[in-house]
Amino acid sequence: MTEKQTQSLDRDETSGSSRREEAEKPTGKEDVSRLGSYEFATETRRPFLRLLSYVRPYRWRFVAAIGFGIACGLFNAAIISAMQLVFKMLLPSDEDVISFKIPLVGAWEFQVPDVSDSQGLKIAILLSLLIPLAILLRGALNYLSQYFMMWVGNRVLYDLRDQLFTKLLHHSLSFYSKQKTGELIQTVVNQTQLAQGAGMKLVGSLAKHPVSILTMVGCLVYLDWIFALVALVVFPLCLVPVLTLSNKVRKAGGKEQEEAGKLMVTIQESFAGIRDVKAYAREDFEREKFNGASKRMLAFIMRWKKAVEIVGPLVEAVASLGIAAGLVYAKMTGMTAADFLIRYVILIALYPHAKALSRMQIELQKCRIATNMVLDNMVRNADVADAVDAGALPNPKGDVCFQDVSFAYKKGVPAVRGIDLRLQSGRFYALVGPSGAGKSTLFSLLLRFYDPDEGQILIGGSDLRHVTQASVRENISVVNQDTFLFHDTIETNIRYGKLDATIEEIEAVARKAHAHEFICEQDKGYQTVIGDKGHQLSGGQRQRISIARSILRDAPVLLLDEAYSALDTESEKIIQEAVEILAEGKTVIAIAHRLSTILDADEIIVMEEGCVVARGTHEELLKGCPLYKRLYKLQFASMEAV
Ligand code: ATP
Repeated sequence: MTEKQTQSLDRDETSGSSRREEAEKPTGKEDVSRLGSYEFATETRRPFLRLLSYVRPYRWRFVAAIGFGIACGLFNAAIISAMQLVFKMLLPSDEDVISFKIPLVGAWEFQVPDVSDSQGLKIAILLSLLIPLAILLRGALNYLSQYFMMWVGNRVLYDLRDQLFTKLLHHSLSFYSKQKTGELIQTVVNQTQLAQGAGMKLVGSLAKHPVSILTMVGCLVYLDWIFALVALVVFPLCLVPVLTLSNKVRKAGGKEQEEAGKLMVTIQESFAGIRDVKAYAREDFEREKFNGASKRMLAFIMRWKKAVEIVGPLVEAVASLGIAAGLVYAKMTGMTAADFLIRYVILIALYPHAKALSRMQIELQKCRIATNMVLDNMVRNADVADAVDAGALPNPKGDVCFQDVSFAYKKGVPAVRGIDLRLQSGRFYALVGPSGAGKSTLFSLLLRFYDPDEGQILIGGSDLRHVTQASVRENISVVNQDTFLFHDTIETNIRYGKLDATIEEIEAVARKAHAHEFICEQDKGYQTVIGDKGHQLSGGQRQRISIARSILRDAPVLLLDEAYSALDTESEKIIQEAVEILAEGKTVIAIAHRLSTILDADEIIVMEEGCVVARGTHEELLKGCPLYKRLYKLQFASMEAV
């Protein structure tokens, strides 16, 4: 899927809570067990057809892969002809002259070489080389077919992963609040591979095996149709084990994927939360969860592997009855050894193709679920999407306006209600209120992580719904208490605010954020790698890197979300100075539980149960807002207690 295709999928997206429910719709995978046989067959084919659309950009190489696969299958006729000629010429027989026919090509008569003289021996050696030569040529065709199929398969896998990852990255926060990260990793890394592998295997096998089988059966019928009938009459019996076992494999394969997802979730959560795992000494608990999922996964793998592996011997056992029947027929008709050998070789050469074809059906059942999961994720609607005609924010200024905004994460439980706020450029606003009052929700709405159910939000006079999400977010800097830093150098972490920043710019913002000194004290200065989530730094140092990043971004709106709550008094003072530099000339909106940090705000907005209940300066609110007074007194009391 190209960018265009992704956009067209996005275009279907509607808005509001209904969209959030739409995105939650279950995927088709759970319903398959209830389908009838026709629907099941259609359901099985559909994912592969969808997958095949990814091959379109590489169609010529794909056609080459199929072409070489078919040529390889057809080349079996050449090998059989070469063997027939060599067997007749070189194996003991009473005939001095043999007649040799190739259908549609011609008929010849050959003198059987007398190996007692050197000329005859030379002919015999050259003749015997015909078979390895033919096999070598078939091998070359097979190699070319595999090469092109692998080439196309790798590109398809690359595109699938790229588009799935892009699609996931563009999903809104509501999607991530319901998903397990480990399962998403499992889908992007493993299930794309399974899906691609299944698709390519299917096409590769369908090009090669049926053509090989048809070619060999054709040769056998041409040589001796009665022998063919006697030997092949049992072949349809091979379908019995295949059909019986494929259902089992489908179920076990699906469960294995489920357990693989759980395994990934445990690994991801254990490592992401390693501090808490250790703090609570829960290593054994995590290990048990991991081993439980691992054990169940292996049990399901064993279950489907057993089913896949049993098919081969069953097909062989059934098919070898054909050889027994053929032997009886050969004895009854007084067939020569050369004649019987060529028929026998054809029968033996048929088995691997019959086996591969029967296994395909079984293995594909297992991989169908992966294909569905990947493709379902690909067409899943995002809650928040850019409008088709959305452009960049035309007037990137700091004026922010909430007009009668209401929003609910869950239907019927509003998180914010009837918010009317006009925040002027260059002023400092503070949001205060008890826990759950809706302060962070206002930030999320301003960043357009969600769209309001009612009302509108404007920046610089533009409704956020009519401009691109990227341009809205470029207009806003955020400083959180727990900044996410990447396992990379300090320089790269700061540069995240402006990807094309020079090292001079990076140093300048680090100085402004009071970070330059401690960065220089690190082993490798700006090139120091700061570990997972920046854990090789203190909380205050991480905060300063984050502020440097925000200064570099230089957006007109600054959101401070509990920026000082994790800091001691000394660090708080340093960070506050850094934030003051960052805030110069910007519209600042700060959420603060510590009221001491926002006493100088131009305006304090008090929220309760999703509504704005009062606005004013600290003094005004102390006089006129009982809730603010209570919050202030509570903190004052706790500060005095300290
Ligand atoms: P705090 O000061 O404790 O951070 P807050 O004022 O920022 O609280 P919000 O985080 O905006 O409050 O939460 C407002 C309401 O929305 C709460 O009732 C909360 O439980 C709910 N809520 C917040 N985030 C989600 C979410 N992702 N899904 C569902 N409900 C949510």
